[in-house]
Amino acid sequence: MSEVQKVSDYFACNVFSDTVMKERLPKNVYKAVMQTKKFGTALDIDVANVVANTMKDWAIEKGATHYTHWFHPMTGVTAEKHDAFITPTGDDKVILEFSGKELIKGEPDASSFPSGGLRATFEARGYTAWDPTSNAFVKDDTLYIPTAFCSYTGEILDKKTPLLRSMEIVNEQALRILRLFGNTKATRVTTTVGPEQEYFLVDKKYYDQREDLMLTGRTLFGAMAPKGQELEDHYFGNIKQRVSDYMKDLDCELWKLGIYAKTKHNEVAPAQHELAPIFTTSNIASDHNQLTMEIMKKVALKHGLVCLLHEKPFAGVNGSGKHNNWSISSNDGQNLLDPGETPMENLQFLTFLCAIVKAVDEYAPLLRLSAASAGNDHRLGANEAPPAIISMFIGDELQGVLDALESGNPYKPNEDKTFEIGVDALPNFPKDTTDRNRTSPFAFTGNKFEFRMLGSADSISCTNVIMNTIFAEVISEFADELEKASDFKTALNALLVKTVKEHKRVIFNGNGYSDEWIAEAEKRGLPNLVSTVDAIPHYTDEKYVRIFEKFKVYTKTELASRTEILLENYYKVINIEALTMLDMSKKLILPAAIEYTKLICETIVAKNTAGIDSTLETKLANELSAITSSLGLAIKTLDEKRIASKEHEDTVEGLARYYREEVFVAMQSLRAVADELEMAMPAKYWPIPTYTDLLFTV
Ligand code: ADP
Ligand code: MG
Repeated sequence: MSEVQKVSDYFACNVFSDTVMKERLPKNVYKAVMQTKKFGTALDIDVANVVANTMKDWAIEKGATHYTHWFHPMTGVTAEKHDAFITPTGDDKVILEFSGKELIKGEPDASSFPSGGLRATFEARGYTAWDPTSNAFVKDDTLYIPTAFCSYTGEILDKKTPLLRSMEIVNEQALRILRLFGNTKATRVTTTVGPEQEYFLVDKKYYDQREDLMLTGRTLFGAMAPKGQELEDHYFGNIKQRVSDYMKDLDCELWKLGIYAKTKHNEVAPAQHELAPIFTTSNIASDHNQLTMEIMKKVALKHGLVCLLHEKPFAGVNGSGKHNNWSISSNDGQNLLDPGETPMENLQFLTFLCAIVKAVDEYAPLLRLSAASAGNDHRLGANEAPPAIISMFIGDELQGVLDALESGNPYKPNEDKTFEIGVDALPNFPKDTTDRNRTSPFAFTGNKFEFRMLGSADSISCTNVIMNTIFAEVISEFADELEKASDFKTALNALLVKTVKEHKRVIFNGNGYSDEWIAEAEKRGLPNLVSTVDAIPHYTDEKYVRIFEKFKVYTKTELASRTEILLENYYKVINIEALTMLDMSKKLILPAAIEYTKLICETIVAKNTAGIDSTLETKLANELSAITSSLGLAIKTLDEKRIASKEHEDTVEGLARYYREEVFVAMQSLRAVADELEMAMPAKYWPIPTYTDLLFTV
């Protein structure tokens, strides 16, 4: 009988965790590292040397031969360069070494990472700096050291540095608010995130026959299968054996890396699933989500499957998102978005809530752009994901409380009882709202906010940098005002009432998928940035540059570079998709249609010769011929549009817009004709696997 291993025995077995450090490091070194982890204090080199050496010995025991500084460049995927631990000793032998200097700082050549024009190639080197708050781990015989990545002149080139910075400013500003409420115990406030990850699984055998899936991650052609998601029989449905085996294997691999994979279930679309981890500190959650996505793909291959993380792999069924559950907690054990049980706790919660209402309203375009990408454009506003309009759902109970606050009347949840805000402890706070509004992009869910716009393939960093920064800005304004008040409670009440009055337009508790909401939002003056090209350029609006610079999260130059990288990525993605469509339609689809038409024509000739009626075949051949001609035209148009992009290269924004308005539109026309053709052709003559093959055979 094989021994069953307990999860608790192998959880985090490949992580250089606090427990491992406590066991292996001298007491004073361990203490110094913990100090660094908690308060960001720099490690001195002697301490770093001991840590590095211990880390190396531990990693070698785990089979590691190399180490890598693992970082998150602007490509959206993680990057790593592996160095072996070996040092020659001059006698044809080597010893295995790893110094504190090597642990703390690496120097990869940065010239091939997107920098949005920040760097000339002669100063191409960048450096990576250890992020000791995120644990090192061993994977594939390599010691991974989570790091931040900067250019030599100090410009930020990655997604982690601004995230760490934004967490720090939330800490500073939130502590000011806690002090105002008389809290002297808390010394640290941390932002937390639990990202729910959606994905599709398809059979590798079919995937390998689809150039579009291989090159772009989504199907660029494909008529809808006879069945879609209309029966809603997949959501939370029984998990098929092959998928269940995959999920089990995946959990195990994630647990070994100390990732708290917790919930797994089938999603709405056929072949779609979700994995949710238990939440943790933002930067760790971000590292873990990157790792999770990588491991999801790897483990799938072992099962003859391919994991698709694209936001919209299939037209006609739901795409995949990533819900970013966000909260803030203090090290005296409070979740600061928990409404609490005493009047004072209620008031503190309402202060943070109002700050979030204001932040979301004032900086809505930033939140919107944090979820903008070519892939996610297919989801937002398509009645499967929130609209592109940013609004907030707070639920009926909280709405009642805010209404009472604004009007100055007591809160009256039911007929026989009233509560005075700030005096009585408020009842019935939605600890876990059952009537969750799934159509809202930004929903309060009991003790956290759930941002539902993010795409499944996105890094969660950008969203959280923005969320943290806009929140820090508003609470810093609150603290400025309240700290100088002579009567705290009166000043607080006035501030909250004013905030609700000025920003309640962003709260919407109704159906976010409805057309009425789009009209209503416009009346309220809420921005509706429909696509990536509408959203991204707002990064450098004066108003936003001001807060990023104020808190030293990004400089104006860095924001401009990010804008450029994102827009460039947008049109490049569409260009690759267009080229792939052209390739597939010219080499596979058009020839298949011609060949099949020829066959019918031969049948017509044979039938006519034999004196048999060929009306049906003639009609069919004419129909096919007409669709094939349209296909030829659609191919020609897309070709021309793509070539004409050359005339729009003056600005990145102009080029991105051209791709959106011309190339993308031509792609949709080409697809429509090809899908019509697919429905008119016999399975045997259709050159690529169908939606039924892809969605219903795993
Ligand atoms: P649902 O699918 O209903 O939205 P899930 O249980 O799948 O809910 O996911 C909820 C996510 O929210 C989980 O990842 C969970 O860990 C996370 N979460 C819970 N509390 C917090 C918190 N305080 N901060 C951040 N995330 C949280
Ligand atoms: Mg959710």
